[in-house]
Amino acid sequence: MTEHEIKVSFKEYNTITELDPADEKLCEQAVIAMKNSHSPYSKFRVGAALRLKSGKIILGSNQENAAYPSGLCAERVALFHWGANHPDDPIEAMAVTAFTEEFPILKPVTSCGSCLQVLAEYERKQGTPVKTILYCLDGPTWVINGIETFLPFLFFEERLNG
Ligand SMILES: [Zn+2]
Repeated sequence: MTEHEIKVSFKEYNTITELDPADEKLCEQAVIAMKNSHSPYSKFRVGAALRLKSGKIILGSNQENAAYPSGLCAERVALFHWGANHPDDPIEAMAVTAFTEEFPILKPVTSCGSCLQVLAEYERKQGTPVKTILYCLDGPTWVINGIETFLPFLFFEERLNG
């Protein structure tokens, strides 16, 4: 038997003014993205903003539906838009934020496993890591470099690529 240990590291900032100016702006874009959240069921608004190498910004927000499984997270709305429209313009960073009037959110909201899996595949496809910025409006901001920090046992099978 061999026991392995995986160490996860990320950076925590008290305010987004401590971030690089471009990352601070991206957090503000994630807040703007929340405006188009369609979340009448959870009342939990999520915004995601991607910054591409060209400087282009892509916004996504969570989109719910009365037929619950038909909805989609903010991150995947933005990521699939990127995959469908800008696949040759690499994603440098993704900022995510959330807000609800139901309860205070005092720490960053982390992405679900499905969104991380999608991010992982696009990161591998473009060949460069994506900086993920989890922006909490009433708490700290976490910055994580590269998906494998998030999801060390992500599913990836080179042989499925043909
Ligand atoms: Zn998700």
